[in-house]
Amino acid sequence: MNVLVINCGSSSVKYKVFNMESNEQILNGKVEEIGTKVANHSEALKLIIAQIKDVKIDSVGHRVVHGGEKFVNATLINEQVINELKKLEPLAPLHNPYNILGIEMAINKWPQLIQVAVFDTSFHSRMPRRSKYYAIDYNLAESEGIKRYGFHGPSHQYVAGRAADFLKQGLSDLRIITLHLGNGASACAVEFGKSVDTSMGMTPLEGLAMGTRAGDIDAGIVLKMLEKNDSDSVSRLLNKESGLKGISGVSNDLREIEKQAELGNDRCRLAINIFAHKVRKYIGAYASVMGGVDAVVFTGGIGENSPSMRRRILQRFDFLGLNIDEDLNNDVNKANIGCGLISASNSKVKALVVKTNEELMIASETKKIFDKVNKVNVEKPVIPIAVSARHLHLDKETFAKLFGEGKEPTKLKDISQPGQYACNERVNLIGPRGTIEGVRLLGPLRSKNQIEISRTDEFKLGVDAPIRNSGKVAGSAPIIVEGPAGKVSLTEGLICARRHIHAHPDDAKKLNIKDKDVVEVEISGGERDLTFGDVLVRVKDSYVLEMHIDTDEANACELVKGTGGSLIYENIAGVEAKIAF
Ligand code: ADP
Repeated sequence: MNVLVINCGSSSVKYKVFNMESNEQILNGKVEEIGTKVANHSEALKLIIAQIKDVKIDSVGHRVVHGGEKFVNATLINEQVINELKKLEPLAPLHNPYNILGIEMAINKWPQLIQVAVFDTSFHSRMPRRSKYYAIDYNLAESEGIKRYGFHGPSHQYVAGRAADFLKQGLSDLRIITLHLGNGASACAVEFGKSVDTSMGMTPLEGLAMGTRAGDIDAGIVLKMLEKNDSDSVSRLLNKESGLKGISGVSNDLREIEKQAELGNDRCRLAINIFAHKVRKYIGAYASVMGGVDAVVFTGGIGENSPSMRRRILQRFDFLGLNIDEDLNNDVNKANIGCGLISASNSKVKALVVKTNEELMIASETKKIFDKVNKVNVEKPVIPIAVSARHLHLDKETFAKLFGEGKEPTKLKDISQPGQYACNERVNLIGPRGTIEGVRLLGPLRSKNQIEISRTDEFKLGVDAPIRNSGKVAGSAPIIVEGPAGKVSLTEGLICARRHIHAHPDDAKKLNIKDKDVVEVEISGGERDLTFGDVLVRVKDSYVLEMHIDTDEANACELVKGTGGSLIYENIAGVEAKIAF
């Protein structure tokens, strides 16, 4: 099976074709100077098609720089995905529009092929929140998506994996700092196989000093620049006129800067020093973030090819247990799976140079989806997750006792299931061990009282609530409920709600599930992936698709806003053996 990988940029389109049985690259090429020598992107694609005409293509993988919060994994491209990608353009105006252009042209050419978007941001999408959030107004960050997304994901993931192979250790046992140092440059803390921090942020402008990008600067500088420049000029200044080029005034190419520095050019020397200094700072920071480091990996044009920059970066790290071997560093032998060791034999922390292959990573992600689609051939909807905090439903009689004769529940706000709402009214739950105050009533009133709490709440109250499907309250636990007008001692009604999915019949059809099915749902995209078993399916015309879990369950998977679940296992209707009534 052959995968064509397309990396469509503003003025060039690069491509590679891989045979995925052997992981071998069978073709590669690029069309440059689009807009000058080559008229436009569509001409570029024509040239590429002519170059690959003798090779059978089975699937196409596209590099997409920004996946925003929506795309946490490689994604099968369809019309809806393209529309979602277009919405992300403001987050990456210098990259995503061209990536989308490449996708649209390739779909035009090969409408029958499975095409996959692989995102620079995906590898970092499970970073802990402390790495993801800027210390700015939280509501602004949420509404505008101003968060740290990180880039170069396929490269960091690829070289971390190769380094683990080379060291003959599991990626899940290693804390690795990967340094992708090319024209664009970023560092990543890969803790036990996962990105836990990275130097690029909302855009690829944050972090290390780069060929032409500034990297970390005081945000006040932007304000200062805006006094005399419009935002396009500031963007140009920071993206195209800064970094190695801005400091040296000579070039963005380190080879040229190193030459001039040797000849005594002071600004070239300063550019080299600043570049190395910033990388060193990130190594120190990421060793702290991970509580230690087992390996430092260099990749990218500079990382792979400049011994003097690597040496400058790794000097005086004895305190970390990292000692460079000058000879190995000066003449790296990458014969073994594209990896070469440059640390001394007594160095506790290993230093490696690894040849990156982002395109192979993109091709293998594409193949995974190709295989999945060919087996299943349906895209199943993602199930939105809603977290139910403790709450209660009351019957008319109990409501009157708690809130007063003649009173009615008053609506605070609608909740996601149609017709249901949160009320202003709240009660206290009193158990033998403790009290939980301010538990909210959900309306409208029902025929039976039902109080839904979590396992953690049970311990606080000192009660033992059975796990029950909603509505099945007969023989459940007793509890005392206190309202402003009085206390009621209920003999039953207290339950720990069984996790369940609400589904409209249309969604149920798409998911191939029926009412009363018991299924497994995989939650991924939060900070800890988790698969929930024993999830009851409830289908009704009035439902909207949503899985309900309680706060304990949400905490267990460290759920973040917007996370969805995927159905991974369908069970047969009526299998409810695990829950006894
Ligand atoms: P991109 O981020 O555009 O993919 P690359 O990873 O290809 O960039 O890195 C390109 C950069 O690598 C060049 O601009 C140059 O600064 C640097 N580079 C390549 N070879 C050498 C070398 N032998 N010595 C120093 N720097 C080098």
